[in-house]
Amino acid sequence: MGSYDGTTGDGVGSGAVIPAQDAERVARRDAAVRAAVEQGLLGPGSPIVGLLDVAGIRESAAALRAAFDAVAAPGMPVLHAFAVKATPLVPVLRLLRDEGIGAEVASPGELALARAAGLRPERTVLDSPAKTPAELREALALGIAVNADNPQELARIDGLMASAATRSPLGLRVNPQLGGGSIGATSTATATSKFGVALRDEGAREWIVRACRDRPWLTRLHAHTGSQGIPLSLMAQGVAEVYALAEEINRRLGRRQIDTLDIGGGMPVNFSSDATTPAFAQYARLLSEAVPGLFGGGYGLVTEFGRSLLAKHGTIVARVEYAKSAGGRPVAVTHAGVQVATRTVYAPGSWPLRIAAHDAKGHRKEGPAVVQDVAGPACFSGDLLAEGCALPLLEEGDHVAALDTGAYYFAHHYAYNSLARPGVYGFGRDETGGVAFATVRERQSVEEIVAESGGAHADSLTDPAAPGQH
Ligand SMILES: *Cc1c(COP(=O)(O)O)cnc(C)c1O
Repeated sequence: MGSYDGTTGDGVGSGAVIPAQDAERVARRDAAVRAAVEQGLLGPGSPIVGLLDVAGIRESAAALRAAFDAVAAPGMPVLHAFAVKATPLVPVLRLLRDEGIGAEVASPGELALARAAGLRPERTVLDSPAKTPAELREALALGIAVNADNPQELARIDGLMASAATRSPLGLRVNPQLGGGSIGATSTATATSKFGVALRDEGAREWIVRACRDRPWLTRLHAHTGSQGIPLSLMAQGVAEVYALAEEINRRLGRRQIDTLDIGGGMPVNFSSDATTPAFAQYARLLSEAVPGLFGGGYGLVTEFGRSLLAKHGTIVARVEYAKSAGGRPVAVTHAGVQVATRTVYAPGSWPLRIAAHDAKGHRKEGPAVVQDVAGPACFSGDLLAEGCALPLLEEGDHVAALDTGAYYFAHHYAYNSLARPGVYGFGRDETGGVAFATVRERQSVEEIVAESGGAHADSLTDPAAPGQH
C-alpha cells in the first residue's frame, strides 16, 4: 500500500514544506479535532463525526473564481456549478452559493438539495445519463440548464419543446474518447464510456452537426473528461476537442448557435500530502494556453468541479475503540470504515487515505512511528481504513483522523451493518478565537435506521394477507 509517509505524525507529508495557506488549514484542522473532543461532539454516544472547514471551503471557492477570472475576457459569462454528488449537503451548497458557486445535479434528489439550498434555476445544471421524462419536464419547467446525454434523450426533449416553452439552456454531452486515467471507475472519456455521444464513433460528428441544424435551441456542448486519476493535460485536450467541435458546428451552420461550453469538473486532488496541488489557477492557465479561444469571450463557460473544491476541507474523526495485535501487527479498531470510506475500503490501491493519530483528548499524538492497521467497525476482514501505515502507536480511547475526506466520503453513507450516518459539523472561529461548530447534518438515530429498514412494515411478509400465504 505504498506511501503513508505523510502519516507519521506531522500530517504534512514527509516533513515537506507546504504553502502558508495549506499550513493554516492544517492548524485549523488540528484545533477542530481537539475542540470536537473537548466540546463532546465526539463522545461515548458519538464515536465518529465528519468535520468541515468553513474558511477552507470559502478559500477554495474564491480561488476557483479568481483562477478563471484571471484568464477570461471581461464580461464573459462564467458559471462555476459545484458537482453536488461530491458533497450532497444542503448547508454546504448554501455556503458555496454564498461564494458565487452554482450547482450541477444529476438526480431528483440532488436537484431537490440544490433547491433546498436556495440555488436559482439559472445557477443550476442538470446532467445524468438516465434522466426520466418527468425529470426532464421538471427541469425545463424550472428553466434549469440541461445537458442531453444521447440521441434518445434529445428526442424526448424534442417532444417537450413542441408542447411548452422553456428558458432552459440546452446542451449535448459529448465524449471525446481520449482514453482513461489511472482509475478505471472515474475515467469518463474512454472509447466505450457510458457518457455522452461518442465523438470518434463513425458518423458521430455529422450526426451532431445535423442535430444542431435541426434544433436552433441546442446551444451548448458539454464534456466531463474524467475525475480523480486523469492528468490535467488530458482534461485540457478534452476541452480542446469540444471547443473545436463548437467552432465546426457554428462554421457549418453559418451562425453562432453554440454559445456556451460546459467543460465539466474532474480536477484531481493530491491525497498524499497537505499541499493543494494542482491549483485551480494552474488548470485555468493550462486551458488558456491549450485552448486560447475558450476565453476570448465568444463563448460562455460552465465548470462543474466537485472533489477539488471540497476534498481538502473535510476530516473524518473516529475513536479507537480497541487496540489489539494480530500476527504481530498492531490493529486499531475504530468507528470509521466502509460506511464512510467505501471506495478506500474496497479499492485501497486507487483511493488511499492519510491517517493522523490523535490522543484521547484530541491532541496530535507523538511517538515513534509503528506500522499498524487502522480498521473500521464493519463485520468483514477487509474493512480497513488504512493497512500497514506508520503512525504513533494507537491505543484504546485515542482518535484517528482520516484526512482530505470532504468529497465523496462521509457524505456518501454506505449502510453496511446498519451503521449510523455520522453527524457532520462545520467549524470556524468564534468571537474569542476558539473553535465553534455548526450542525450540517445530525447523526442518524437508531430509530431512523429501523424506520429506513422497513420498520413500519414489520408484518408485511408474514401476516395472513401477505403474498405467498395462500
Ligand atoms: C462527477 C462529475 C463532476 C465532478 O467531478 P469531480 O471529479 O468531483 O470534479 C462534474 N461533472 C459531471 C458530469 C460529473 O459526473
